[in-house]
Amino acid sequence: MSAQSSPSGKPIERYDVVVVGAGFAGMYMLHKLRGQGFSARVYEQGDGVGGTWYWNRYPGARCDVESMQYSYSFSDELQREWDWSERYAPQPEILKYANHVADRFDLRRDIQFDTSVVSAAFDERASTWSVTLSGGATVIAKFVVLATGCLSNARMPEIKGLDGFKGKVYHTGHWPHETVDFTGQRVGVIGTGSSGIQLVPVIAEQASHLTVFQRTANFAIPARNAALTEQERQSVRSRYPEIRHFARVESRNGIYTEMPDRGALDDGDSDRRAKYEARWNHGGLTFMSVYNNLALDQTANDTAADFVREKIAEIVENPETAKQLQPNNHPIGSKRICVDTEYFAAFNRPNVTLVDIKSSPIEEITVNAVRTGGRDHEVDALVLATGFDAMTGSVAKIELRGRNGQTLNQKWAEGPRTYLGLMSAGFPNLFVITGPGSPSVLSNMIVSIEQHVDWIADCVAYVRDRGLHAIEASTDAEDKWVAHVNEVAATTLYPQANSWYMGANVPGKPRIFMPYIGGVGPYRQICNDVATKGYEGFVMTGKEQPRKMAAS
Ligand code: NAP
Repeated sequence: MSAQSSPSGKPIERYDVVVVGAGFAGMYMLHKLRGQGFSARVYEQGDGVGGTWYWNRYPGARCDVESMQYSYSFSDELQREWDWSERYAPQPEILKYANHVADRFDLRRDIQFDTSVVSAAFDERASTWSVTLSGGATVIAKFVVLATGCLSNARMPEIKGLDGFKGKVYHTGHWPHETVDFTGQRVGVIGTGSSGIQLVPVIAEQASHLTVFQRTANFAIPARNAALTEQERQSVRSRYPEIRHFARVESRNGIYTEMPDRGALDDGDSDRRAKYEARWNHGGLTFMSVYNNLALDQTANDTAADFVREKIAEIVENPETAKQLQPNNHPIGSKRICVDTEYFAAFNRPNVTLVDIKSSPIEEITVNAVRTGGRDHEVDALVLATGFDAMTGSVAKIELRGRNGQTLNQKWAEGPRTYLGLMSAGFPNLFVITGPGSPSVLSNMIVSIEQHVDWIADCVAYVRDRGLHAIEASTDAEDKWVAHVNEVAATTLYPQANSWYMGANVPGKPRIFMPYIGGVGPYRQICNDVATKGYEGFVMTGKEQPRKMAAS
């Protein structure tokens, strides 16, 4: 970092790289940049590290990727010394891990907490970014990396009367730090995605009555969570080289699992059922990896969807409730599949009621009730498990001004446009970690984060070592990549669902399948090839001689 005086006499801090966000992406980005000799500053709006795991503190929050895989792989010492307690880590433990990483790698001294990046503008003459922070200060950086997270912009639903509700209102993505005790209260939960499905059974244990307002029934697979034994931890650790390699290079979703070699219709009914049964009993996200065509072929998909619908009917005692809980308007997996612990069984409790708000939408929220179909469901507290403005929401909150004064929001008005999900043409030296157009949310996020961080750090070093001023995506490469992302998505069943992958959960948001579904392994290969070919598809400006960074 270096500092000069501004016209007002206040020092302007200058860094090689400004990183926005101190979640898992921002923390590793900082560590990596330091290792390459860059000065870097991270700005984080929260008062601690952890990103999504800092904000999502709702009861029952836990990761749906197994803990020994949902963890950094960049440090062998780290992955050997940290003991995960359960197959799926609960939120407090993941947050503890994030804090451990921050301490172990001495990250905090370069993170400024309680500080949002409000705007950033590219100075075309100097090839630097002028970054404005909440509080009004401005810093200068050669590069900006957005590590803002894909699911971090909690979305408040637009429901008439919500502001006038007299009880407490909680959003799962913005949960209070102190424990919320619902004992003896009548609680309403709106939303039945991954968050709602995790918290319903936990709140049902406390509340005097829980009313679940469901707009879309979702597919959920039992987690089969359990404590990890030392033997199980050691077994995974001894195979880490193989497990990590598979997740990075061979897998489609960054998760170590068997790769299916046949389609669902290649097996007869009883063999197929036995395989689904085995995966159901094993539990977790890999249910969708039983066959290789569940995301591609409607008839194949129907076999898996029917199996889960049958399971729901077996678990839920009231046939009418069971029917309402059976998803029927989207292929299984085309909305993010949920992983649950006793979600469907919770509806057998006498203190839990399901209200179908698809057929009878919420009319309004009164001072003490949710009104649907002319009937008031009285509640003392409301939990909004209504999701996020995913993938683009956190980026859109920052006014990012690139070449010719154009903002990223203007450029992305019809949907996000990136090359490889990493950069957007017209916005030089601005990178996004796990941005739209990359596998991101379709993968084990930590695998994708590490791949992007490594790629970005190498790219930035390439620019520095050649004395270049700027790198940016070419419009041509970006157009081709956007077309490719759309083409691949169109070969799958994903676009059929009104999902947040499609931006469908936010009124007015363009309907575009945002993540890249080509698979983590193939995508990594594409990124590596681009770099090996001297960053093919990117435009470099500046002279080709080694020199110090302009911003340093
Ligand atoms: P979500 O999947 O977007 O679910 C939001 C729910 O709220 C949906 O049921 C939605 O109904 C409903 N909803 C939204 N607006 C509404 C409105 N105005 N009125 C009534 N209902 C409304 O959000 P989420 O559950 O927070 O999960 C988001 C993503 O975060 C997940 O898909 C997952 O990737 C991640 N996540 C992961 C974990 C984990 O690792 N275990 C846990 C939580 C979240 P519609 O479906 O009809 O829109």
